[in-house]
Amino acid sequence: MSTTTSAGVLADFASIGARRLAAADPQLTGLLEREHARQNDTLAMVAASSSADPSVLACAGASISNVTTEGYPGARYHAGCEVVDEVERLAVERAKTLFGAAYANVQPHSGSTANQIVLCTLMKPGDTLLGMELSAGGHLTHGSPASVSGRFFHAVGYGTDAEGLLDYDQVAALARAHRPKVIVCGASAYPRTVDFARFRQIADEVGAYLLADISHIAGLVAAGLHPSPVDHAHATTTSTYKQLYGPRGGLVLLGRDAETPLPGSRRTLAQAISHGTFPFLQGTPDLGAVAAKARAFDIAAQDGFHALAQRVVSDAAELADAFTGLGHTLVTGGTDNHMVLLDLRSTGLTGAIAETALADCGIVVNRNRIPGDPHGPRVTSGIRFGTNTPALRGMGRAEMRRCAALIDRVLTALEPHGTREFTLAPAVRAEVRDEVTRLCRQFPLPHHLPA
Ligand SMILES: *Cc1c(COP(=O)(O)O)cnc(C)c1O
Repeated sequence: MSTTTSAGVLADFASIGARRLAAADPQLTGLLEREHARQNDTLAMVAASSSADPSVLACAGASISNVTTEGYPGARYHAGCEVVDEVERLAVERAKTLFGAAYANVQPHSGSTANQIVLCTLMKPGDTLLGMELSAGGHLTHGSPASVSGRFFHAVGYGTDAEGLLDYDQVAALARAHRPKVIVCGASAYPRTVDFARFRQIADEVGAYLLADISHIAGLVAAGLHPSPVDHAHATTTSTYKQLYGPRGGLVLLGRDAETPLPGSRRTLAQAISHGTFPFLQGTPDLGAVAAKARAFDIAAQDGFHALAQRVVSDAAELADAFTGLGHTLVTGGTDNHMVLLDLRSTGLTGAIAETALADCGIVVNRNRIPGDPHGPRVTSGIRFGTNTPALRGMGRAEMRRCAALIDRVLTALEPHGTREFTLAPAVRAEVRDEVTRLCRQFPLPHHLPA
């Protein structure tokens, strides 16, 4: 194994690319520079977002992306893979170490694809899938009729109780009634801890496979701040660009069931997931993304990441506390993770209005449905906040109080007209925008050079 490194070659390559882009395509360059500036100058509180380290993005943009191949390290369908095999093995080993997994597949192009891989490996078209309803906080890929997961499989959904908490007895009752082949747990909009052991108990009782989707909380799981599903679920999936601060992409992990033979198949679960990824669902892997995942997993294994994850959680707790103190209603009354869900029903506002008004002031969030929401997904009655990016910027409890006060200032000044239109006094808008700009300057994105 070669140990010589040459940052110079990669840096030169990236800089040739940037200079050539600027000279050849000022239009596109201008857009990319504006986007670069926007990320630093606005307060990103979208719970599904984060900001990747430039070393991660350098991997994703390196010439390794030029390599076209199929298959797995040591078993490719093309020559010339000696180096990329080492890169993929490194990414796999780092993923396994980070999550204490027996098997990792780093090839899925996205979190959605990772879920499709697991579902299509474990189920046949028409089989029953039990997942969390989209409107209750689940993801499209957990059986929504808008997704292939709800079209090719017979999807049954579970929800939450009136407070927004998972109702495990309801899940168990639905599992007994419908005998699903797969149960999916994990969510896109659930601010509380998920009891993966309880889900496995339910799955075992009805002979179902358990898929845990930790797209939103993967960083907390890696840092030991949320219980890990890896040995409870038959398969665990995640996106790599959310709380892992990595590149676009997905990951499948297997724990203690990795070597279990699949009934009616020659394959173990691990072999079946490999086959389900390639050739069943995907073709060539994106080796730049694989390298970038390896980089992100290494960063996530370091002590600094643990401190970041702790700040993510304490920031969210503080934000929740501040909102409550200001008289707002939170779904589930608080948070255990990085996410705070505001219930706007008593304010006369909709999620769509709040999202647009806050964006006008430089605070980027997203509207979200809440339990029992009278509005559809375009309007909604909730907004979702996340602390991945504020924590990365070094914002702490005091700053979360400032953010809550600014958000409250906007929400209480809004005059809604219908479900989407509103007026906001220009003075309030200017005042909040100024304060957001001050906060963003005081806490710049690390390594994010001003454009
Ligand atoms: C974001 C998300 C996904 C999908 O990830 P993509 O990489 O965007 O396809 C899957 N599951 C959950 C729970 C998510 O929140």
